[in-house]
Amino acid sequence: MGRATITFLGGVREIGGNKLLIQDGPDRVLFDFGPSFSKRMQEYYVDYLQPRSASPVQDLLEFNLLPRVEGLYAREALADSDLAYRAPEVHGLFISHAHADHAGYLRLVDPEIPVHVGAGTRRLLEAIETSSPSMKYGDHAWSVFADRTPVKVGGIEVVPYPVDHSIPFAYGFLVRTSEGTVVYTGDFREHGPRAADTHAFLEAARHDEPAALVIEGTRAGPDPRRDLSEDGVRTGVDRILERSDHLALACTYPRDVDRLRTLYEAARAVDREMVVSPRTAHLLEQIAPLFPSGSIPTVGASPGLAVYARKRRRTYRWEDPYLAGAIGPGGLRGQGSRYLLALDLMHFPELIDLRPPRGSPFIHSMSEPFSEDDVDDAVLHNWLEHFGLAFHQMHASGHASGPQLLEIVRSLSPQRVYPVHTEHPDAFEPAGAGVRLPELATPYRIGARGPND
Ligand SMILES: [Zn+2]
Repeated sequence: MGRATITFLGGVREIGGNKLLIQDGPDRVLFDFGPSFSKRMQEYYVDYLQPRSASPVQDLLEFNLLPRVEGLYAREALADSDLAYRAPEVHGLFISHAHADHAGYLRLVDPEIPVHVGAGTRRLLEAIETSSPSMKYGDHAWSVFADRTPVKVGGIEVVPYPVDHSIPFAYGFLVRTSEGTVVYTGDFREHGPRAADTHAFLEAARHDEPAALVIEGTRAGPDPRRDLSEDGVRTGVDRILERSDHLALACTYPRDVDRLRTLYEAARAVDREMVVSPRTAHLLEQIAPLFPSGSIPTVGASPGLAVYARKRRRTYRWEDPYLAGAIGPGGLRGQGSRYLLALDLMHFPELIDLRPPRGSPFIHSMSEPFSEDDVDDAVLHNWLEHFGLAFHQMHASGHASGPQLLEIVRSLSPQRVYPVHTEHPDAFEPAGAGVRLPELATPYRIGARGPND
């Protein structure tokens, strides 16, 4: 038995929930720690039905929705569970990016365990905590890493490389152990604005002649959804805005900064003002200092960017600076041709006050639903039909396509390939003999050469 192993504690045959444990002798490092979006999770917990905050680990372990790992969880989070508290036996936790399925269970982790993140991810997590009162990540011994600069955890060396994804500040990792390098991709794409980062990461990975590649496969296997590049989204949005004299509505993921920029630039090109939620305004303001000056639009500093004031009984204090000059439905009604309103699906009741003219465009700038009986999708279309809005699907995925994934595996030619973050790990099999479909909680040797290792 070799000294170095990889164990998959989540993200196996499911999208989201990656939890990758790498052990080398006495040293143990964990990568990502969030809930999965899988059906298995939704069999027990849905929007209105969640684990109790007084005993989250107990309530998740009940259905095997968390790994049973000693020396990982915070004492408080373990309340009433049958897993005993132990002082940390995991020596570092690396978070690839700030999406919930990679970082959402941080609050359960022992605050003594160092949490390694990029500076931008740290900033994003803070912004999310401020603007989403239900999201808490807990107190941690935060350790901010620098791009492409090795971090030592005992004998394990971790090198974080920026990659392109649908949230800024996403990373892939080269994990150098005594038995060779493990490459962990996190979530990534090759067709976004930072594709060069992804390519530099893959080039460095190839150079290490990896013993193992742990690769995300969100879009592996059958995927009938239409996918554009970010430039393709821009072209499509341009066309929609040019053709309409009505209020334009758009909906995107709250932390997809590339998309927010695309929508903003498209709006400016036709002299429309983009109107966003206080949460989006806050996010853009928080991350702007980490980008080249002027490249992230912010309310107050950038022309044509305003905040929308929804009808509410109470607001939060952090929103005050954004709501000061905000526009309400009365300001938009009858002047729709001057605006692009980008809100969340949960803000649809505003349509009752906005009453855009029939035929006004609605740009769905998010991924299409996978299944035809998607309840949320049916609700969305009921609203659009009721108000007579014209639906446009315009999205660039945050993930590499199936053919790109196979090409990457072939070009890196690692000894072993472990697909994670996918419902179709078998779709990687054509990429070569080294592909293994990981099983949950089973340690795999790093540096194995035999056919059965
Ligand atoms: Zn992600």
